[in-house]
Amino acid sequence: MFRIGIGHDTHRLAPGRTLVLGGIEIESELGAEGHSDSDALCHAITDAILGALCEGDIGMHFPDRDPRWKDADSLELLSRVMWLVSERGFRVINVDATVMLERPRLRPYIDQMREKLAGVLSVEMECVSVKAKTGEGVDAVGESRAVMSQAVVLLQLV
Ligand code: MG
Repeated sequence: MFRIGIGHDTHRLAPGRTLVLGGIEIESELGAEGHSDSDALCHAITDAILGALCEGDIGMHFPDRDPRWKDADSLELLSRVMWLVSERGFRVINVDATVMLERPRLRPYIDQMREKLAGVLSVEMECVSVKAKTGEGVDAVGESRAVMSQAVVLLQLV
């Protein structure tokens, strides 16, 4: 049996914050605001997995009012959800994700993100796709007010 899930995440950008995407620190004047490390890519993938399992959303599992998740490493949240995946008898087949950020260009970081995510998802790097898009100067992403991410994940019962 296969299960598919979709995830989306948005974080506001602000000076004085670190920008982390896919567990990789990005050199940037603006970072993502939020309760955890605000890694929009990890959050979208985490939500996609929870969606595939019909297990609610990331806010249900890791509430932003809970001090335990203050400045939390989102790879750690993802690995906790991966524990749920294996507990239910599933494994990840592949992940396809898009990060929407006006600047900097993410191309130099993409393979590092894929490698890091693949490790947590227990798959080969070839099973993790991360694509980068700008906002073409339009809307919150284009005006560098936000970073967004989307992800689709396929799980298989093993
Ligand atoms: Mg988030």
